[in-house]
Amino acid sequence: MASSLKLGKTIIPYEERKSSRTKRISIRITPEKVRVSAPARTSKREIQAFIEKNREWILENWAKLQETVVTQRRVYETGEKVLYLGKELTLQIINTPHKTISALYKKDQESLEIKIPQDFEGEERQLAIREILEKWYKQKARMVFLQKLSFWSRQMGVSYNQFRLKEQKTRWGSCSSLGNINLNWRAIIATEQVVDYLVIHELSHLLYMDHSSEFWENVARYCPDHASHRRWLREKGPSLII
Ligand SMILES: [Zn+2]
Repeated sequence: MASSLKLGKTIIPYEERKSSRTKRISIRITPEKVRVSAPARTSKREIQAFIEKNREWILENWAKLQETVVTQRRVYETGEKVLYLGKELTLQIINTPHKTISALYKKDQESLEIKIPQDFEGEERQLAIREILEKWYKQKARMVFLQKLSFWSRQMGVSYNQFRLKEQKTRWGSCSSLGNINLNWRAIIATEQVVDYLVIHELSHLLYMDHSSEFWENVARYCPDHASHRRWLREKGPSLII
C-alpha cells in the first residue's frame, strides 16, 4: 500500500513493516522511500513518536540521497556509445595539450571524436564533455531539421515562417498560428524516420491546427507508419537524455 510521511514541507514515500521477529523500532532510508520496521505490537503513537524523535536525521539523509539520485548521470569515456539519428556512435575522447574543446563526427567509423584539454579532470572533465556533446547535437539538429523542413514542405506544398530549435522537457515540436515551427533538439537522437514524422506532423499543422481526423489523414499521406513512430516516442522518448 502506498503511503507517505509528511515532515514539515517534505513528503516522503513511506512504508511500515511490523513483525513479531522484530525486536525494536528502526528506520531505513533508501532513494525511494523511508521504511520503519517495528515489533508486531507497537502502537501507532509509539511509531509516530519514534519518527518525531528522528525527524531531523530523516530529513537530512533523505535530502542527501535525493541529491545523489539527481546528479547520478552517465559517465562519458572512450568506448561509450551515444545515439545520433538512431545509430550508435562510439565515443573517442582524446586529451590534448590545447585549451580548446571540439567534437568531430567520423561517419565512416561511426564514431564521435571529442578533444579535450588534458588538465581537465574528474567532474570538470565530464561536464566539459557533456557540454560539447550537447553543442554538437544542437548543431546537427539544426542542420538536419532545416533540411527535412525544406524537403517536406516542398513535398507537401506548404510553407512555414520561421524555424526555432528548442529545448523542451515534454514536447517534441510545436507549430504556432503564425506558421512558426519549433522542434526539440533532443529528437536528433531518434531515428531518421521518427524525425521525418515529427517534421511532417508540424508541417501538417500549417493546414490543420488541431489533431482532427483530417489532420491525421494528411500526416498518413506522407508518413504511413506514423502510429509506430508515435509509439516509439512515447516509450523511448523519456530516455532520450544526454
Ligand atoms: Zn500536433
